[in-house]
Amino acid sequence: MKIYLLISGKYGSRVVNNLAEHGMASNIVGMEEYPEDLPHFIDDFSHYIPHSLPDADLILAVGLSGDINMVVPEVARKTGAKSAIIPIYSPEQMPPGLQQEITESAPDVRIVFPKPFCSLEPIGDAPIDEFASRFGKPVLYIKSDNFIKKVKVLRGAPCGSTDYIAKGLWSMPAEEAELNATQKLHNYPCNASTDTDPAVGDTSMHLASYQIKEAVKRGLGFAVKSAVVDDEICDTAKCQEECLKTCPQVRIGLETITISNEEKAIIDPATCGYCEICVKECPQNAIEIQNGRFELEG
Ligand code: SF4
Ligand code: SF4
Repeated sequence: MKIYLLISGKYGSRVVNNLAEHGMASNIVGMEEYPEDLPHFIDDFSHYIPHSLPDADLILAVGLSGDINMVVPEVARKTGAKSAIIPIYSPEQMPPGLQQEITESAPDVRIVFPKPFCSLEPIGDAPIDEFASRFGKPVLYIKSDNFIKKVKVLRGAPCGSTDYIAKGLWSMPAEEAELNATQKLHNYPCNASTDTDPAVGDTSMHLASYQIKEAVKRGLGFAVKSAVVDDEICDTAKCQEECLKTCPQVRIGLETITISNEEKAIIDPATCGYCEICVKECPQNAIEIQNGRFELEG
């Protein structure tokens, strides 16, 4: 697969280095680096289009903020790429209007906007799926008894944080790994924004921490903390399903909260990041955060 990169700033460089460290250097057919201080609003972005462009299958635009992202459709057209990934790491970087404009200006290119990059999963598009089979939402194989014996990264965050976290989990008590992974993500450090994204109701950095926690939980087969719904109190006839509408994980496309056939909310401990938003939003006070051991299915 031939990848053309459009990058800017520390985050862009970090992703390029991580791809190279994972043997992808030969897949990178070209790269354009933009300064970080470009104006947010650009009337005419045509002179930011690189002059000579090779054939490519996938465009990755990482770390570009504001209107400069409008180069993606044109770069895709000139390289022949039919797929593009523009990860969103902060609310100012990609307002919803700009995202729509980019999508509409390239109707024949499949463009995804993972929010954040470490939430990317296969979507049924060959180049994006090939990339997402190795980079995106973290997946860990974990061998443990009471302590972590082995951790293998099956899919890592594109910034490289999953490898760093995986190394740090070795020999730790299994029950501490989930919370420790979040701490290690911050130490790496995660470059995602700490500003609340109004489209999601949470910060990109929190969303990133929910993804690595999920990888640890699934690797271990259990979670140690989760929001829990009290079936006796939950009553969808008396609410607007506020929990479902406000859960940030649901808003990025996950099934963290679902409504059962009995019309009760169900929370999936594997993906719950215990942000407490649903706890505050439920008008029936039917949800609380609980510590314990939640066995995961599968
Ligand atoms: S948990 Fe609360 S907000 Fe969610 S469906 Fe039940 S009553 Fe409604
Ligand atoms: S605490 Fe509630 S809103 Fe937050 S991730 Fe868990 S289920 Fe979603």
